[in-house]
Amino acid sequence: MTSSKSKKPVASWLDYDFFENEAIKCLTVILRTVGCQWRKCTMCGYWQESADISQADILAQLEHSLRTSPDEEFILKIFTSGSFLDEREISSGTRREIARMVETRKEIKKLVVETRPEFVSAEKIADLKAVEHLELAIGLETADDFIRSNYINKGFSFDDYRTAARIVNECGATVKTYLLLKPPFVSEKKAIEDVIKSADLVSDYSSTISLNLCNVQKYTRLEYLWKRRYYRPPWLWSAVDAIKEIKNKRDVVVMSDPVGAGHKRGPHNCGSCDFVVKEAIKEFNVTQDLGVLERLEAVDCECKEVWQALLKFDDFLFCSNLG
Ligand code: SF4
Ligand SMILES: [Zn+2]
Repeated sequence: MTSSKSKKPVASWLDYDFFENEAIKCLTVILRTVGCQWRKCTMCGYWQESADISQADILAQLEHSLRTSPDEEFILKIFTSGSFLDEREISSGTRREIARMVETRKEIKKLVVETRPEFVSAEKIADLKAVEHLELAIGLETADDFIRSNYINKGFSFDDYRTAARIVNECGATVKTYLLLKPPFVSEKKAIEDVIKSADLVSDYSSTISLNLCNVQKYTRLEYLWKRRYYRPPWLWSAVDAIKEIKNKRDVVVMSDPVGAGHKRGPHNCGSCDFVVKEAIKEFNVTQDLGVLERLEAVDCECKEVWQALLKFDDFLFCSNLG
């Protein structure tokens, strides 16, 4: 790793999020760190972004990204492709320094960081006490222990998540829970049912539910399955269906960043209607207005019937992996 690369983040970009009932700018920074210790989830290739990085480099990466931060109010998301509360990735001293950087920038309305549940403790969250609105994002993926353990290989239980979420809430921070739409070996229909049921079970702990539409990353076990046609990423119609169902029932912010939408490795429909559905999901993210998704009922694309038939026969046929 050259020193110039270690002082720049993997990526950073500006887009919009939803905060206090309105759209707000959002700066996302992906810091390069030593990476996730677990590295065993079937769909994850984030370990490829890790490197031997010092704590000083991490602060330099963040400073580099903040140079292009907006002048108006915004949300700052700092992701490490691992766990922000893992001491091996981000030390306690670095966390406190980052909290000070956030505190001095009054435009930052909220800081979002990600962590596995085993790293959550009141002491570590206290490192970030200077941050006025802190959100801890936890990749639970599903409330179903069997799916999480056997198909995703996540390495923690729903109880571990609940314990961590309670600590976060008791510390006065909020929880964002990631749910994965369509892990491997789960049919399209079961995948929709699983995220809806999971949303029910996490909504007491979460102020935001983020639906991650599974995409096929390089050099992962999921890619191995996908190349052999044992896996097809979720249909965008499934995402719309799940978002509508989850949002309809609860007072929770529901987000879904349609990463890779319309591409064969990402969530996709037939190719003709992907763009309009993807744009509707993005608009829903920043408005939380279900009307945006309901208007998609007027999209008269032939693939909708194929998708509906697939849901009907999904339990009998393994054709959800085709197309
Ligand atoms: S999904 Fe998260 S916990 Fe799993 S290997 Fe990737 S970074 Fe680690
Ligand atoms: Zn279509």
